[in-house]
Amino acid sequence: MIVVGAGIVGLACAWWLQGRGHKVLLLDPVLSGDPPGVRDAGGEWRSGSRAALGVLMADSFHRDRGRAWDLRQRSQELWGQWRRELAQRGHPIPYRAGVLLLAADGAEAERLAALGARKRALGLPMEPWDRRRLEPLQPTLPQPSLAGLHCGRDGQLDPCTALAALAADGRQRGLSLRGEAAVALQPDQGGWRVDLAGGGAERAAWVVLAAGTTAGALLAGVSGIAGDRWTLEPVLGQALELELEAPLPTHWPGTVVWRGVNLVPRPDLEGGRRLWLGATLEPGDRADPAQLVQLRQLGGAAPEWLREAQVVRHWQGLRPRPVGQPAPLLEHPAPGLLLAAGHYRNGVLLAPASAAWVADRIEAGRHGA
Ligand SMILES: Cc1cc2nc3c(=O)[nH]c(=O)nc-3n(C[C@H](O)[C@H](O)[C@H](O)COP(=O)(O)OP(=O)(O)OC[C@H]3O[C@@H](n4cnc5c(N)ncnc54)[C@H](O)[C@@H]3O)c2cc1C
Repeated sequence: MIVVGAGIVGLACAWWLQGRGHKVLLLDPVLSGDPPGVRDAGGEWRSGSRAALGVLMADSFHRDRGRAWDLRQRSQELWGQWRRELAQRGHPIPYRAGVLLLAADGAEAERLAALGARKRALGLPMEPWDRRRLEPLQPTLPQPSLAGLHCGRDGQLDPCTALAALAADGRQRGLSLRGEAAVALQPDQGGWRVDLAGGGAERAAWVVLAAGTTAGALLAGVSGIAGDRWTLEPVLGQALELELEAPLPTHWPGTVVWRGVNLVPRPDLEGGRRLWLGATLEPGDRADPAQLVQLRQLGGAAPEWLREAQVVRHWQGLRPRPVGQPAPLLEHPAPGLLLAAGHYRNGVLLAPASAAWVADRIEAGRHGA
């Protein structure tokens, strides 16, 4: 089978399928790099997966039933399983557990209190942090921070480490990686033909389209498929890596989320003096410098230690947002063709559950659309 796109979703699909005994070819121009699958061609960070902060917010999702909740819970379980398996084979993906959601106003404080109560009733480790618990934290939190909810199982992993681990382990287990773009696909002798940018073609009984923002355009070119049914639009995100004057203390509560901005400690980088800050949400594919300034200053609320930190890296990437449909798009548009795209904001989290959905479809042998 062929998987088109080696972002976190495509790589997860390819790795999972290969591990389950299928013979998989993964196509993406980024795979021409060394090591493969880490940076986009030309060294630019453009796809969502290579720009993501890797915050996995499963338990803290605002719902507690339905498809989106089930995908999150399944993914959280699978990420644990996958990381253990990959570590045993020499490809560890360090996970930093703990996400602290902060309330900057009274309405948000009420919402967090209700969310925490609902999730605790399900047995999830969600601890309310009141002001007495927040105020002594050093360095200080952005203000106002009226209340917090600490989610013990949610956390963060480095998406590029995850991509590299899946690619390297997959390759050792026989996964074929090819650094080429798919330009078209067509039904062919009961399966599919994928035309490649270099002029060649590959054939397979199953094709999984996980090409981020371009997945919709590839589908639109397939005769017999309604072209506008799965439109994906880009939403750009910018992020920063900061160098702090002093390392964050070991009791820092993990990733901190304030007014939708993630403060992601990187204890593994430069003696713990690095922090990721992000991300903006900008419809389209053009970065707005003003949004970056807002992010850098937390809209004027950045505490002194954060204002004084040096920016050492700035990057951006595109999130694939489905138009008029809930994210993500896990669809079966034609016999032997699967769409695993439109992972708008939580693709790193949702990659394992998406891969499991793909494998279930293929193994159930349901060729009907
Ligand atoms: C700044 C930022 C921060 C984010 N933070 C988080 C976070 O903390 N947690 C989280 O879960 N999510 C986060 N996200 C969202 C996350 O990045 C996306 O949901 C996810 O990356 C989507 O993955 P994907 O594999 O579907 O798509 P992509 O990452 O876009 O990958 C698609 C791949 O397809 C390839 N491709 C495109 N066209 C073709 C073609 N014709 N042939 C072959 N290959 C092709 C591309 O080269 C690319 O590698 C963030 C996104 C951004 C931008």
